[in-house]
Amino acid sequence: MSLNRRDFLKSVAAASGGLLLSKATPSAATMSKELPPEAVGILYDATLCIGCKSCMVNCKVENSKPGGALYTKGMQEPTYEYTNERIWDAPPDLSGKTLNIIKVYMNGNGEVKDRPENGYSFLKQHCLHCISPACASVCPVGALVKDPVNGIVHYNADRCIGCRYCMIGCPFRIPRFEWNSAWPEIRKCQLCRHRMQEGKYAACCEFCPTGASIFGKVVDLRKEAQRRLELKEGSESDFPLQTVDSTNKRTRKVSQYVKHVYGLNEAGGTQYLLLSGVPFDLLGFSPKVTDAHLPDLTWAYIAKIPAVIVGVIVVGTATWAITSRREQNKKDKRE
Ligand code: SF4
Ligand code: SF4
Ligand code: SF4
Repeated sequence: MSLNRRDFLKSVAAASGGLLLSKATPSAATMSKELPPEAVGILYDATLCIGCKSCMVNCKVENSKPGGALYTKGMQEPTYEYTNERIWDAPPDLSGKTLNIIKVYMNGNGEVKDRPENGYSFLKQHCLHCISPACASVCPVGALVKDPVNGIVHYNADRCIGCRYCMIGCPFRIPRFEWNSAWPEIRKCQLCRHRMQEGKYAACCEFCPTGASIFGKVVDLRKEAQRRLELKEGSESDFPLQTVDSTNKRTRKVSQYVKHVYGLNEAGGTQYLLLSGVPFDLLGFSPKVTDAHLPDLTWAYIAKIPAVIVGVIVVGTATWAITSRREQNKKDKRE
């Protein structure tokens, strides 16, 4: 079946119209400045982290299963046989295959843990699940969505058009693109929401042996973070393993803390909270990220995109109509 220009333009216009109609004005949850009622998240305490990367390994394993953030329809579930080819996986950064990464800060002789000078610290980097996510506010087709109840910012590959605005919009440079794939998708942590349907929680927390990463309701995580900041350095305290309300606890000597919970206010607040003995700017968090709710700023710009698309379609269709009319006039004169 041949498709003439009129049919082609009609179909382009229809498809574009459909796209525009489906253009999600950012949802109320995305534009909200309030923590969702059942918001869940993670507290990462760098002073408890030993850099074992168990969280990274299990993030990859659990998210490569159906429903996971690394899983693509029809993908073979990995078998994880530890052959010589598969035993090493040491990614240097987040990528289309890595949703969570442990990095290290080191200064001087790097001898003392959790000290900015002549010391070192670990950092666990993944999506912070912003209360007002800039990634979702700039997505022109609503492929990134904030759950209005638990606040998880998740991704719908079926809607994504691959524009990569979310990568530019995110103040923490989290979303990554599958550059090597024929049908690339955006990849980022989705807080293991696929596991919650099975009554499980974030894999990185479930498999963390020290309690450095714990899962729970954000209100409880905030209280636990505040409790830790009030502890006396050098004293002993109990730290829960896996979840904030766990009865399974480890007694540890309290380390030095920077007196700040990262994520309490940054970018309008996030559901991933961090504690550290080393200032957060030294761990790679840009001091340029203020407490402002970014969707207030980004939406003013992104709202113009549908108008641009409509403009292109209208001008294109008008040009085609004028050209056709001229050709028809010439033909009429010849006849
Ligand atoms: S950290 Fe970036 S990717 Fe994650 S919710 Fe916030 S803006 Fe989106
Ligand atoms: S919550 Fe899940 S997807 Fe996110 S970093 Fe942890 S294991 Fe990975
Ligand atoms: S599993 Fe826990 S202790 Fe090990 S690297 Fe991850 S956060 Fe740190």
